[in-house]
Amino acid sequence: MSEMILHLEGVTRSYRSKASVLEVLKGVDLKVARGEIVGLIAPSGSGKSTLLHGAGLLDRFDQGQFELFGRNARALSDRARTALRRDEIGFVYQFHHLLAELSALENVALPHRATGASSRVAAERAAELLMAVGLGERLGHRPAELSGGEAQRVALCRALVNRPRLLLADEPTGNLDPDTSAAVFKMLLKLLRNTGLATVIATHNLGLTEQMDRAVRLQNGVVVDA
Ligand code: ADP
Ligand code: MG
Repeated sequence: MSEMILHLEGVTRSYRSKASVLEVLKGVDLKVARGEIVGLIAPSGSGKSTLLHGAGLLDRFDQGQFELFGRNARALSDRARTALRRDEIGFVYQFHHLLAELSALENVALPHRATGASSRVAAERAAELLMAVGLGERLGHRPAELSGGEAQRVALCRALVNRPRLLLADEPTGNLDPDTSAAVFKMLLKLLRNTGLATVIATHNLGLTEQMDRAVRLQNGVVVDA
């Protein structure tokens, strides 16, 4: 049996204000196995980010069953949540969120340092990843000296530097022109293949999902097959 990395069942999430309650997730079921690359397709405002933030322990679900790496994720202490997020989960966002004053190499090495790696080991690991995405000549460049596609590739390396078991990508190429988006996307899939990493990629670009293992749709607060 394949190892289940993410397992959601009947998951809900609402945003409450004084005046109203906005039900965004109304009973989401989703299973992602080791090595699987799953596209999460839905138009803007459907709850893709809400779902990924919950699954990635950046936010909490209201109700439902939520297992990560075979553990009940709703029962984790704050400390365990933080450790899992740092060691086992990688995030990529629409905007790269790189630190402006650090080089590409330092941006990628930083989260690895946070796990206790020495500066030499972290720098070697960062360089290896950056070379794999074709940025071997850009190690010392700061984000402002990189193109949008290059910066996003750096962000991808940063997400992978701690060898996570789950990668959550929230419209990772949403801010790039179509050609650059396709190139970054190809790079992402190439890096992921054969790593065993489970990945969920939110996008509203249906064309991108063709190269994934499977796509699901988030519709009216539930997940359906695409
Ligand atoms: P998507 O990522 O698919 O664009 P989101 O998960 O960001 O969708 O948002 C889903 C809905 O929830 C939207 O209507 C959005 O306005 C609302 N929403 C998102 N975050 C919050 C929040 N922190 N407080 C209140 N409403 C929110
Ligand atoms: Mg979003």
